[in-house]
Amino acid sequence: MTTVAPTIDTDARASVVLPPTDLLIDGEWRPARSGERFAVIDPATERETAQVARGRAEDIADAVAAARREVDGGRWSKLSGLERGRLLFALADLLQRDFQAITRLEALDIGQPFKTPTPAIAAIRYFAGWADKIDGRQVSLPDVGGRPTHTYVRREPVGVVGAITPWNAPLMTAAWKIAPALAAGCTVVLKPPEDAPLSTLHLGALALEAGFPPGVVNVVPGFGQEAGAALVESPGVDKITFTGSSQVGRNIGAKASGLLKYVTLELGGKSPQIVFADADVDRFIPMMARQFYQGSGQVCAAGTRLLVERSVVDQVVEGVAAELRKVRVGDPFDANTHIGSLISRKHFDRVTGYLDTGRAEGAELVTGGERLGERGFFLEPALFTGGIDMTVAQEEIFGPVGVLVPFDGYDQAIRMANATDYGLASVVYTGSMSTAHRAATQIRAGMVRINGGAGIPAPSVPFGGTKGSGLGRELSFAGIEACTVEKTVSFEL
Ligand code: NAD
Repeated sequence: MTTVAPTIDTDARASVVLPPTDLLIDGEWRPARSGERFAVIDPATERETAQVARGRAEDIADAVAAARREVDGGRWSKLSGLERGRLLFALADLLQRDFQAITRLEALDIGQPFKTPTPAIAAIRYFAGWADKIDGRQVSLPDVGGRPTHTYVRREPVGVVGAITPWNAPLMTAAWKIAPALAAGCTVVLKPPEDAPLSTLHLGALALEAGFPPGVVNVVPGFGQEAGAALVESPGVDKITFTGSSQVGRNIGAKASGLLKYVTLELGGKSPQIVFADADVDRFIPMMARQFYQGSGQVCAAGTRLLVERSVVDQVVEGVAAELRKVRVGDPFDANTHIGSLISRKHFDRVTGYLDTGRAEGAELVTGGERLGERGFFLEPALFTGGIDMTVAQEEIFGPVGVLVPFDGYDQAIRMANATDYGLASVVYTGSMSTAHRAATQIRAGMVRINGGAGIPAPSVPFGGTKGSGLGRELSFAGIEACTVEKTVSFEL
């Protein structure tokens, strides 16, 4: 494991091309009405990257008005599904064209080694394909007073979609929200995260270049309590789709439902990885470790609770700790880096606060947990062993911290897996088909991966959580359903 402060490549940073930093409203870049801007910080250097316009309620109102006009009889509402799909394919092609630039921009923005726009491109192409395939159905009902009837169900866009995204995967989450909405015929007002708004602003610029009519895709950066809250409360917004913490999500869900808006919530997680003794343990140890150090653990679906059958605990503790010690923590612009900096000082303090809580509650720190250097928020990945009721085994830390808890027998494993407020993802390692299928049925989570599984998330399968991890699903046809509403039309013939 690296033990020295990472070396920072300032030349690489200087060559990153910044996007427009104003608000994208009604097809043009505008400063905030207040004229205010806020600083975006590169977490790896703690230096300012850009000053971005600070959207507030009045800017959200402008964006919503433009989006409303387009969905209520404007040019956008008259385009065919084929035409909407063509625009989405064009947007995906532009993201592909700017692949390198976006990858570097996002590294600068979030402090993590190159996350490519591949998942965003895949989702946009997937939904582009749906745009001309959204249809209704005809239903046979009895004659009325001897006269035949004809009844059909139309699937219509919900209207204006307000989308709020987090900093850990800003481009991908934005694409997951705008692509199904646009495919379905909705318009969008997108509020990117204040800690990392740049890749979303680039996406906005590409939407303009692709030829979406003014007002269809609006991007209003700003703070949660200001721009975010105004979007949720705006009477012109029909649906809120939010990805972020469970705490904020509950609050948004309550407000949006009080206003009778449609709502999709993709929230936090504390996902279990269950290791049964009959699994090919050595083969899966690298995956077990990767589950909680990747992205410095700032991944909603990270498997941060490692539940291990007692007879293989020593093997897993030693193996996972050895993997963690190999992790290179460093500059996201260095090709050899595995994980970069946490997003901000506030978040770093939160994560290290959990390390203190873990120690205070008697969890054993097997490895890691040290800060590297004094600039940037570089943290060694850490492994605790402890009990299932400890705070570090219950609350989402959103840092590179895993907690290993031993179990005895299948029933206890499932009880522990479900003993959390969350239910986003899970991984099961076993050599038994029967154990795998039973566990897949009994774990309360939106996703179960057995011995790794496919490269999920993939656009063609639903993504989302149960319990405190959220409401509704994104991706797949569920993403289209979440942006459409059915209307019944009945005739007497
Ligand atoms: P956060 O909840 O603090 O913020 C998310 C977004 O909500 C930001 O854009 C923020 O400005 C906005 N916001 C904050 N307060 C608001 C308010 N009162 N009204 C309206 N908007 C408001 O989350 P974060 O720290 O940016 O992201 C990390 C969290 O996101 C973690 O909990 C993680 O698990 C979760 N996440 C979930 C998924 C998923 O698909 N389930 C994916 C990625 C991240």
